[in-house]
Amino acid sequence: MSNQEDGIFQDAIKRLDSAFPYADIDEEPLEKLKHPKATLEVSIPVRMDDGRLQIFDGYRVQHDNTRGPTKGGIRYHPDVNMDEVKALAFWMTLKCAVAGLPFGGAKGGITVDAKTLSHMELERLSRSFIQQIADFIGPGIDVPGPDMYTNEMIMGWMMDEYSKIKRQHTPAVITGKPIPLGGSLGRADATGRGAYYCIKQIENINKWNPRDIRVAVQGFGNVAQSVALLLYNDGYKVVAVSDSQGGIFNEQGLDIPRVICGKNETKALNTAYCKGSVAHFMNNGAITNQELLELDVDLLVPAALQNQIHAHNAERIKAPYIVEGANGPTTSEADSILNSRGKFVAPDILANAGGVTVSYFEWVQNRSGISWTLEEVHTRLRTIMDTEFHNVYRLAERRGIDMRCAAYAHGLNRIGVAIQSLGTHRYFSEPHGQKAHPGHADGLD
Ligand code: NAD
Repeated sequence: MSNQEDGIFQDAIKRLDSAFPYADIDEEPLEKLKHPKATLEVSIPVRMDDGRLQIFDGYRVQHDNTRGPTKGGIRYHPDVNMDEVKALAFWMTLKCAVAGLPFGGAKGGITVDAKTLSHMELERLSRSFIQQIADFIGPGIDVPGPDMYTNEMIMGWMMDEYSKIKRQHTPAVITGKPIPLGGSLGRADATGRGAYYCIKQIENINKWNPRDIRVAVQGFGNVAQSVALLLYNDGYKVVAVSDSQGGIFNEQGLDIPRVICGKNETKALNTAYCKGSVAHFMNNGAITNQELLELDVDLLVPAALQNQIHAHNAERIKAPYIVEGANGPTTSEADSILNSRGKFVAPDILANAGGVTVSYFEWVQNRSGISWTLEEVHTRLRTIMDTEFHNVYRLAERRGIDMRCAAYAHGLNRIGVAIQSLGTHRYFSEPHGQKAHPGHADGLD
């Protein structure tokens, strides 16, 4: 069965088998990671502004909690379904392990076109969702955060609703909150910044001069805007960006601060979303999202949706370097094609780990009651991103494997070590079916 026919979760877990020979983990725990620990599907009743009652479908998946409470964002999108949320939760388990955070993986979502809701409907939907999942989450159990089409305002409502239900102020139940409600400095651009730190490592390895490097960024939301702006400020030529309505291209490089201003000007004051599109900046060439992916650039940063680079376009991707800002932008079939063409891919579970890393900082600050400065947040984030990039890069070099396979092996090593530390698995299981532990030879951690 090709991965076009597989669900996204089945496609996602194929990476476990590819990384298994290079990881210090036994077959049984690996098998366990192919199944989420717990899934919850809820109906969310919302009183709409016209008085009607509308029911929305919502999901929360806890994938694995071996290394700590589960952690993962909440997505609002018309295509959200259980299969997608399972895949996103799975990636969170691996991502938290790669970043060395004391979390497992989770994800949530609501099937909704949030742009069609009024501000009050959006708030009622967000609070109603928390009412349905309140017993499933908690600061030491499962900690949500933002994802596509959710933002700090929504996280603030959700924290407030949870605190009301539990009759206790509980900022650590959710991350990505507004700063006055316990949010962390530096969370807003953390995912894009983490991807940018990975790009700086690639720049060092290849001795790039930023002015010679042309970049295409797919998407123009939280992650894409942050990475595009940081690269622009460094002198990189960001020649293309896009959003759900299309993209723009300028061979000389786009004026990213101006594009950000233009996009955000269209965000009506009382709503959460931009009504306008970068595609309306017509003094730059208009391109489709498909054309953007296939541009002749040095660096491609997919930072919108999953499944963007697939078996049918992977042969046409020209960028030699791809840094995945989005979760799951490349299918497993596309992986093999990109690898056979010698492309360097910094995979999602490494490249976009900056967001969950600063979410972890926020959780730590909430639980300790001490706030960190922006400088502290940036320094700690950079240390983690640089260290883990090099752990993955060295493993890839040493084993002659691609960066994605190395990132999975690195994450699996950490999960494997946690399982061994518990002892229970080894104690109760038969010795057959267990493998030698080549991961130790890699000397990681
Ligand atoms: P966002 O809601 O801020 O922005 C999403 C962007 O994608 C918007 O510009 C939208 O127009 C664009 N988009 C939607 N459909 C598109 C399409 N078909 N083609 C091109 N663009 C399209 O979301 P975000 O937080 O920036 O998330 C983007 C990606 O990054 C997602 O895959 C998300 O899971 C991942 N991610 C986000 C975070 C985070 O902290 N926000 C952390 C890790 C990973």
